[in-house]
Amino acid sequence: PNLEKPKLINEMKLKLPSLSVNESAARAIVAAFAAQANPTVSEVADIKCVVSEAVTNCIVHAYPQTMGVIYITVQIYSNRSIRLEIRDRGVGIGDVRQARQPLFTTSPESERSGMGFTVMESFTDKMRVRSKIGKGTSGIMVKQLEDFSLFGR
Ligand code: ATP
Ligand code: MG
Repeated sequence: PNLEKPKLINEMKLKLPSLSVNESAARAIVAAFAAQANPTVSEVADIKCVVSEAVTNCIVHAYPQTMGVIYITVQIYSNRSIRLEIRDRGVGIGDVRQARQPLFTTSPESERSGMGFTVMESFTDKMRVRSKIGKGTSGIMVKQLEDFSLFGR
């Protein structure tokens, strides 16, 4: 077993206004950056899905009726883990534990199913959500890609 602390290999920071067209832009840009770690087709699909859900939450929930900035950081580590941070300076979440529950939504009227956080959590290996009312929300997700030995160290 490799007990060394994984090293940060590469990093990307992206700052986008909360326009709905930027959901697909963010998804494509993150997937293109993550491609250097040779993810499988299904791992890329998972990463795209996670980015979509998190960015959509910033657009619809964090900055309702306003325009704000979405901050995305993607890091690639030597053990082939991909760390995604998606952050906003929007309205914040009062009860994160409740918000993370499957089917919990504050917008049932606008065809939301309350499954975004559940998707983000199940398509990654670790998820941490921090939020403060009036300050914003940060979601950190780590995806461990398979087959450690294929990635040069
Ligand atoms: P779906 O993602 O299925 O369309 P949803 O967005 O309501 O529905 P989740 O993504 O799981 O479901 O989010 C649950 C709830 O958490 C949201 O309804 C919203 O109240 C709150 N929330 C999520 N992300 C944010 C955010 N970035 N800022 C403020 N509130 C948020
Ligand atoms: Mg959502």
